[in-house]
Amino acid sequence: MASALTDKLSRLVKEMRGQARITESNVQDMLREVRMALLEADVALPVVRDFIARVKEKALGQEVLSSLQPGQVLVSIVNTELAATMGEGVSDINLNAQPPAVILMAGLQGAGKTTTTAKLAKHLIEKRKKKVLTVSGDVYRPAAIEQLKTVTAQAGAEWFPSTPDQKPLDIARGALDYAKRHFFDVLLVDTAGRLAIDEALMREIQDLHGALKPVETLFVVDAMQGQDAINTAKAFKEALPLTGIVLTKLDGDSRGGAALSVRQITGAPIKFAGVSEKLDGLEVFDAQRHAGRVLGMGDIVALVEQVTAGVDMEAAQRLAAKVKSGDGFDLNDFLGQIQQMKQMGGLSSLMDKLPSQMTAKAGQVDMDKAEREIRRKEGIICSMTAKERSKPELIKATRKKRIAMGAGVQVQEVNRLLKEFEQMQDMMKKMKGGGLMKMMKRMGG
Ligand code: GDP
Repeated sequence: MASALTDKLSRLVKEMRGQARITESNVQDMLREVRMALLEADVALPVVRDFIARVKEKALGQEVLSSLQPGQVLVSIVNTELAATMGEGVSDINLNAQPPAVILMAGLQGAGKTTTTAKLAKHLIEKRKKKVLTVSGDVYRPAAIEQLKTVTAQAGAEWFPSTPDQKPLDIARGALDYAKRHFFDVLLVDTAGRLAIDEALMREIQDLHGALKPVETLFVVDAMQGQDAINTAKAFKEALPLTGIVLTKLDGDSRGGAALSVRQITGAPIKFAGVSEKLDGLEVFDAQRHAGRVLGMGDIVALVEQVTAGVDMEAAQRLAAKVKSGDGFDLNDFLGQIQQMKQMGGLSSLMDKLPSQMTAKAGQVDMDKAEREIRRKEGIICSMTAKERSKPELIKATRKKRIAMGAGVQVQEVNRLLKEFEQMQDMMKKMKGGGLMKMMKRMGG
């Protein structure tokens, strides 16, 4: 699904190439694909409608920047708007309260509440140097209390005992009292899971909220839940003043569209993302990155930016002029190109930003090896004299041997580089001056 969208979008981007402005009709085509993608990623329909309307308004009539194609401008608008819908910068846990700061965990059974409670404990201990106590109010499942005990120990926090014959409210009060007397900074309260929205249980968590006055009430929701997440989110929002969302199981193969809906419906910021079953699998939510995932296109915008920012445009133009004027493309220029590749952050960093479908193909290439290769080439050219670099035809057997020794490589490698250079020179001639600029544009499109 992700790759199908990537295909469609890149086709549209290609079709739009060369058009100077984004028009009503090309925007419609593109937005239709985006709309489908959002629905397929399980974003709720009203949320999708709102979103598309906002993007359209922003996109129409936009002048196209000189370095970008219209398709890319649109992709960039979609991406930015997606990220804006899902968050407004990073928001960490709020602990501004008279200690202990109480954090109440709410959500359906199986959403990942207990796991997230321990992950958060670990996060607060390691990143914010807090003294953390956990407690389970889940008196309906003895196994749940035991589970919290186990993971709390793994997280290095303290666990407050509770038993199934107690009332959740009494447990919570007991834990709060203990936390106060023992100077804990944070009390994390795990609550009973619900398989579905259940009124009695909702009332129970409301009572807990009233008694504990938590500084954070976090709604834990499974990213794989898709459309169902909307109803759950609605019910929890009506019952509790949510202060944040934790989106779990983002390591699964869900497209994570739930993030958009849940955020829109609750109005609460997505604070964390669960990315593994392990206790270190909690990440501060990054809306920008998640936007790419929802549309399945990787971080295309960042890629385009990196490609255009990394290139020294002046140098590229000088080079282009040189080839055009017949001055020829020499080894100094070749070296310049190699160095520009390096400036762009190296191959592997570029690969990271490509859509997954493309990276899958490229995955067969050993990136480290490719980068080592670049460094070797650089070494070879640097072992040449200035004269040799500007007049490569001077490089015959003895010179080759000397260069190879200087660079610490075999003569064959020098030969290979010279051959490659000749091919590049040929290509440059054929391109009649477009050179690197043209190649860059091609990459961008
Ligand atoms: P609770 O019923 O809401 O307390 O849910 P649990 O914490 O018991 O989690 C339910 C299941 O989801 C367990 O098997 C967890 O290991 C798993 N789980 C929780 N968070 C994540 C996550 O971010 N990624 C993955 N892959 N699994 C998770």
